[in-house]
Amino acid sequence: MADRLYPSIQRCAACGNVKKGDEKITLYGNKKHGTKHDEYVCYNEKCPNYKKVVDRDRNAMMNLTFLIDHPELNKAL
Ligand SMILES: [Zn+2]
Repeated sequence: MADRLYPSIQRCAACGNVKKGDEKITLYGNKKHGTKHDEYVCYNEKCPNYKKVVDRDRNAMMNLTFLIDHPELNKAL
């Protein structure tokens, strides 16, 4: 089971980068980058999904699936 603090919404499923501060996605998207609430865009230059718009829920779902095999992430983040 995912910990309440596990940042499945803010974490990039491709590289593991977690959005913080003004990079975070809110209910209204991200103001700084002008993304919509249902979009996830990773700005880690080394990420295979760098600047690629992915579905936010799909990204979150992949993070939760990943957690099944890596339960230690519940504590690490
Ligand atoms: Zn990424």
